[in-house]
Amino acid sequence: MPFPYEAPVSQTLFDRAALVTPGGVNSPVRAFRAVGGTPRFMVSGAGPYLTDADGREYVDLVCSWGPMLLGHAHPEVIAAVQEAVARGTSFGTPGEGEVALAEEIVARIEPVEQVRLVSSGTEATMSAIRLARGFTGRAKVVKFAGCYHGHVDALLAAAGSGVATFGLPDTPGVTGAQTGDTIVLPYNDIEAVRAAFAAHPGEIACVITEASPGNMGVVPPLPGFNQGLADACRADGALYISDEVMTGFRVSKAGWYGIDGVKPDLMTFGKVMGGGFPAAAFGGRADVMGRLAPVGPVYQAGTLSGNPVATAAGLAQLRLLDDAAYAKVDAASAEVRGLVTRALDKESVAHRVQVAGNMFSVFFTDRAVTDYEGAKAQQAFRYTPFFHAMLAAGVYLPPSAFESWFLSTAHDGAAIERVAAALPGAARAAAEASE
Ligand SMILES: *Cc1c(COP(=O)(O)O)cnc(C)c1O
Repeated sequence: MPFPYEAPVSQTLFDRAALVTPGGVNSPVRAFRAVGGTPRFMVSGAGPYLTDADGREYVDLVCSWGPMLLGHAHPEVIAAVQEAVARGTSFGTPGEGEVALAEEIVARIEPVEQVRLVSSGTEATMSAIRLARGFTGRAKVVKFAGCYHGHVDALLAAAGSGVATFGLPDTPGVTGAQTGDTIVLPYNDIEAVRAAFAAHPGEIACVITEASPGNMGVVPPLPGFNQGLADACRADGALYISDEVMTGFRVSKAGWYGIDGVKPDLMTFGKVMGGGFPAAAFGGRADVMGRLAPVGPVYQAGTLSGNPVATAAGLAQLRLLDDAAYAKVDAASAEVRGLVTRALDKESVAHRVQVAGNMFSVFFTDRAVTDYEGAKAQQAFRYTPFFHAMLAAGVYLPPSAFESWFLSTAHDGAAIERVAAALPGAARAAAEASE
């Protein structure tokens, strides 16, 4: 029995799900394939805790992969949603909520002069790429190995997240024509970027990068890398797209931009800005955004874009995210990182905790990870028993060694104490792991 922990109700639900849905899940990493065992079917969340179908409670260090920055079922967010729902759930017309959410985004993030709301991060990056191509009249797109921008065809080349988890080089169904204009470069390698511009002058529409990557584990940009990208783009007339779907509104009031201050032409957002609902956005320079329909020729649309319930949730969450809230998450994150390091050090497990604001991940390696090759070189086999020991002790970690851990303002002393109690056993399991 590899996993000393039973979840009979979740297992029954998973069996049912597998009959009607491929792999029993609606997003691949949820299936626990990388770590094995039974995915936990969650029935409720409150603050820093999730409760599964078997009635077990976990400290949640995934936070819905980032969005739940105020914890689960925050009373003010729930109240805003209830108020919005009672007025009707979709009108297919403009509404004030979407204006207020757009104003909040524009007010927080200086390079965003105009913004268009969509329903997922994938839609945001797909639309931003189309706009960049339409604006520049160029075809080629530069992306970085290990960066994930959603499941956009053109960007599913050497992607992170679930693609990293499964080590897929590419995906069937994406044709050569769709990725033929995609240039994949090693992350943090500014010389490779300069060489690509030298090889394809006037042909590159945009460089898209995660503002600070979190989808191959947390691998922050080296000092000067993002500025180097912005400069290389400007010199050639290409657009610099900063994908802040994960970092936006999470690592600071203005996301990663608020930390490194490098000015992109376009940015993409999702996760936190939806308050747990499907809401995302892309925005940036007004002259570029002005090429979008209906004012410009680049088409983009969405039946549920700017949905009144989603925008109410997002707006309520963003309005609660003031400097004090970010300071609180930063402190909780630092505390958990310290606990992880102490526990793993005590068992002499080689590891690196890599940090981007309040996001972090644990790599089982003795070297700093600066790119996808480095991320893949970690001893991921140690993560499996580590993960299951934490799960058994009531701590829900990302079910993959290639994902960020996420905290919230709700992670208080009591929640962190539970994490502290779980770590020594998990560190021992990681130390004893063998390939
Ligand atoms: C999650 C993520 C996406 C995709 O967003 P979805 O809402 O899952 O489509 C895109 N880019 C980054 C950086 C992400 O972390």
